Amino acid sequence: MPNTDYQNIIQQLYEQIQSEENFGEVATYIPELSKVNPDYFGIHLTTIDKREFGAGDHLTKFSIQSISKVLSLSIAYELLGDAIWERVDVEPSGTAFNSLLQLESDYGIPRNPFINAGAMVICDMLLSHFKHPDQELLQYIHDITGNSDIQYNPLLAASEKKIGYRNFALCYYLKSFDNIENRPEDVLDFYFKMCSLEMTCQELSHVFLFLADENFLNQHHKPVITLSKAKRINAIMQTCGFYDESGEFSFRVGLPGKSGVGGGIIALHPDKYCIAVWSPKLNAKGNSYKGMKFLEMFTTSVESSIF
Ligand code: GLN
Repeated sequence: MPNTDYQNIIQQLYEQIQSEENFGEVATYIPELSKVNPDYFGIHLTTIDKREFGAGDHLTKFSIQSISKVLSLSIAYELLGDAIWERVDVEPSGTAFNSLLQLESDYGIPRNPFINAGAMVICDMLLSHFKHPDQELLQYIHDITGNSDIQYNPLLAASEKKIGYRNFALCYYLKSFDNIENRPEDVLDFYFKMCSLEMTCQELSHVFLFLADENFLNQHHKPVITLSKAKRINAIMQTCGFYDESGEFSFRVGLPGKSGVGGGIIALHPDKYCIAVWSPKLNAKGNSYKGMKFLEMFTTSVESSIF
């Protein structure tokens, strides 16, 4: 029988991990991110019947970075359907999130929507569809959560733009293959803005509940996404959510999830819960050291994963 005493398990694991050494490095390549206190550690779990369990810094806002790519993908997929797969694939890349390597041999088709190149192609689709995709994305989040306290951080977006040479290279490279319709500058501005979204662990676990709960309705009492599309997004998170550590995350945690270089991770158990963990120090693959450790111990303790 799975152990569902979530609050006790979360609190115990939180205390145990807090007492152990915290390995890794805060992401310093984005100047604004390097200022974050490396000792933050928070966890929040929301069940599909809206019970909430949290520990540590679960109510502190942080930069969700690449976790936002799941939201832009959900909007684009619901709007444009299977046509999106003509411009971005669904295969794990086995490379770093910002790698240029495979684009040349793959003729500018990114391996999946969660590496930077794939997320830029999705941003481009939204830019072609909406006059103000940044406002649409924010509205989408506010409609899902009923919480308009979730915003972008313009300082962070500007800080990333200043040093975003590799992302500029990726976007112009995609454009050279005709896989970007808009001006690369505009795609990048939207991409950096999207990555600068700030949320608490609690807010994150609310936002992504729609992928765990097949009956989830937004504030307008409408489904956010069809069941079969939610299944597919979960499948891509399972196989590609952690870049070249996706196999490791699947092996250790056994849930679909997505990480960001701000140190956040979301993971969800379909029909049960969504959990968000945040600790800024990253391992060599760019995923939160404590976040991975916590989630591995958590699914082991509750004796329940999707496998
Ligand atoms: N904004 C970050 C970047 O493009 C997102 C990367 C991440 O969170 N893995 O470098």
